[in-house]
Parts: sequence; C-alpha cells; structure tokens
Amino acid sequence: MRKNIVAGNWKMNNDLAQTETLISELKSQAKTSDAEVMIAPTFTNLWHAFQSLRQEDIEVVAQNMHFAENGAYTGEVSASMLKSIGIKTVILGHSERRAYFNETDELLAKKVDAALANDMRVIFCFGEELADRKAGNEEAVVESQIKNALFHLGVDAFKNIVLAYEPVWAIGTGETASPEQAQDMHAFIRKTLNNKYGNQVSDDMTILYGGSVKPVNAKEIFGKPDVDGGLIGGASLKAEDFFAIVNAF
Ligand code: PEP
Repeated sequence: MRKNIVAGNWKMNNDLAQTETLISELKSQAKTSDAEVMIAPTFTNLWHAFQSLRQEDIEVVAQNMHFAENGAYTGEVSASMLKSIGIKTVILGHSERRAYFNETDELLAKKVDAALANDMRVIFCFGEELADRKAGNEEAVVESQIKNALFHLGVDAFKNIVLAYEPVWAIGTGETASPEQAQDMHAFIRKTLNNKYGNQVSDDMTILYGGSVKPVNAKEIFGKPDVDGGLIGGASLKAEDFFAIVNAF
C-alpha cells in the first residue's frame, strides 16, 4: 500500500522568528487525514524546526544537499550533516535548482546516490517546461529525467524514492495542471516504473503532484487514482491553507 504525503516546500522564505511563528501555527492545526506531513525550511532553520516538531506528526526535511560527504565545497551541506541533526528526507531536483543552479540529471544522480548511501529518503522532483508541453514532448522529457537520474538504482534502493511531478509552467504561477493532466502524467510515470522495476515497485511508489496546489483545488487533484499527494510551495507558508490541503485527502 502506498502512502499519501503532503510536503511543504518553504523555499527561501521565513527567518528564525517567522519559522517559530509558522511552526506554532502548524501545531495548532487539526489533522483529519492519514497523509504523512512534511515541511522543508531553509538550512538555517532546520535544527530549530526539527527540535520544535520532535513530538509532532510533522517531519522536517531538507530542500537540497551536496553529493560529497565533506571537503572544499564552500556554502554546501552534505547528507551526513543533515542526518546528524535528525533529518531523514531531502528534496532533490526541484525545478528552481535545475534552472537557477544548473543542476543536471547527471549531478542529481550523484546527489541521489549520496542521500541513499546515508539512508535518507529522497523526494525527487522533475517536470516539463511549457514549451515541452506545447510541443507534445512532456512524456519524453519526464521519462528522460527519471531514467537519467534514477534508473541506475536497484529495486531496494528505489523504494527510498518518492517522486514529485512538477510541471514547471505550474510552479508558483497560479496555473495548475488540470486534475486530468496530472492523472495522465502520473499514470504514465507509473507505467514507466512498471516497465523497469515491475508491479510491486510501481504500485507502491508515492507520486506527488506539485504546481499551484491550493485549498480550492487540492481535493480534486488528490482524488485522482495515481496522485498520492502534493509538494506545496506558496500555500505551505500559511498554516491554515497548508492543513486544508493536508486534510483534502
Ligand atoms: C514548488 O515549489 O514545489 C511548488 C509546487 O510551488 P507552488 O505550490 O507555489 O506552485
């Protein structure tokens, strides 16, 4: 049985005081769904968030990491450093990392390996740009992103991956893929996994949708059979909206 997950990607938002406030607001929300809930604050707030949410049903995850264990990589953070403060999951491959920091599939494959070598779970993001969709290439683009960064993994390693389909044209734009577009792509992704890893892995894989999910559209998107949750940007910055999305299951 695959899990439903709702993860909030805070991006480069919230200083320490704002993090404290949002966390206390999150704690006061009632959870009525069985979805796993995660938040991804900035590196500077991970330790505080982790400590504050120790007793809660909200996992604190990282937005990024480097592939090396340590060394001369000024400004970077490694998997073992994240692990040492209790972080067990990392988001990799977000379209903003790909677009603004030149992260390629090849680099992401190395990051995935480093995370898994440290027994971390990976939320792996991918998705087509608007031009790809207009040209009818969305499935080919998504398939190559998944294959290039993940298909070197064996079945057991693959079980530590959560996939997040995020069409770039829907991220932070207010434009959402229709529930049907999301379902079609998620079904295609599951079929691609099935061809490579077989039924068990593809059936058990949690595939999140990301791109302008809000309280008003979450129920319809999450109602689709191959959509197992969401990666939420803007709406995760308001506790009430975020929990309305969590409770949309
Ligand atoms: C994201 O950054 O992963 C995202 C989906 O953002 P938003 O919900 O704001 O579109």
